[in-house]
Amino acid sequence: MLRSVILAASRSSQVERLVATAPYTRDVVRRFVAGASTDDALRATRGLVDDGLAVTLDHLGEDTVRPEQATATRDEYLKLLKMLSGAGLTPAAEVSVKLSALGQMFDEQLAYDNVRAICAAADAAGTTVTLDMEDHTITDSTLEVLAKLRKDFPSTGAVLQAYLRRTESDCRELSSAGSRVRLCKGAYREPESVAYQSAREVDKSYVRCLNILMSGDGYPMLATHDPRMIAIGEDRARWFDRGPERFEFQMLYGIRPEEQARLAGEGYTVRTYVPYGDQWYGYLMRRLAERPANLVFFGRALVSKK
Ligand SMILES: Cc1cc2nc3c(=O)[nH]c(=O)nc-3n(C[C@H](O)[C@H](O)[C@H](O)COP(=O)(O)OP(=O)(O)OC[C@H]3O[C@@H](n4cnc5c(N)ncnc54)[C@H](O)[C@@H]3O)c2cc1C
Repeated sequence: MLRSVILAASRSSQVERLVATAPYTRDVVRRFVAGASTDDALRATRGLVDDGLAVTLDHLGEDTVRPEQATATRDEYLKLLKMLSGAGLTPAAEVSVKLSALGQMFDEQLAYDNVRAICAAADAAGTTVTLDMEDHTITDSTLEVLAKLRKDFPSTGAVLQAYLRRTESDCRELSSAGSRVRLCKGAYREPESVAYQSAREVDKSYVRCLNILMSGDGYPMLATHDPRMIAIGEDRARWFDRGPERFEFQMLYGIRPEEQARLAGEGYTVRTYVPYGDQWYGYLMRRLAERPANLVFFGRALVSKK
């Protein structure tokens, strides 16, 4: 219930104005977002890579409605990739891209041209791109774009969301050799017709999907902070004899950093998803919806008079 309310608020421009202008919002944002600029993103990446973690960078922004915004997002990724390569941070750092930030909502061809340019730049920089997955209305078109991109850039990664009823079948489709798939639970508000609603059902689906990917021939990327899912991932890695070059764990910047360090210390590949930029509102609201404890932390910051 609370999750639905927060996710509904994540699409409200009125709530956005309220949150953005609250005095201590910046302090909360700083916990989950690496900073506003490309330099901030590079600094955070350097720190994580020095600590033995891999990174995927997300320039925040989604649901873009103007072509010039979409082009600006593309250009930011091109700049970022050049800087990562110049700083010697590729291939440890790759990028995550939302098609809706590149124009998918109003011009699919423009979004495709933009993401293709990013894939070409990533390829030239010696690294990869993963296509973030957004709400279910664009799952099909995102997977179609992925299939087209993979013809020229086979390492382009997909994201599949365990809460969607269709995802087991998508996992089977995408578990072949060379296929990089990030498995997450899913962060959007989805109707019962397409998505499991209870945490228990979502967890069970996550485990079924994890089993398909870990027993397949592709490269699974297990994106979760859930101790039970992580333990099952470790178990299946042993069972299917997958070393650190054959799968990875992924977690979000600022969430369970000690667990990220523990897994990396045990020899697993761990990739931190690092968001940066000033369009942090939708991202922050999804993080709040996932965890009531974050909401308490946020509420305290909003009402604090210090
Ligand atoms: C790298 C990465 C990329 C992602 N990309 C996408 C995407 O493209 N599309 C999409 O829809 N979603 C994406 N997500 C979000 C994802 O779908 C989930 O909404 C999010 O990860 C929360 O699910 P969870 O598996 O971490 O477990 P949850 O069900 O949220 O939490 C389960 C348990 O994990 C532990 N836990 C969770 N959060 C914390 C915390 N802050 N501190 C301490 N313990 C915690 C707790 O024990 C909790 O009970 C991504 C997530 C990650 C990690």
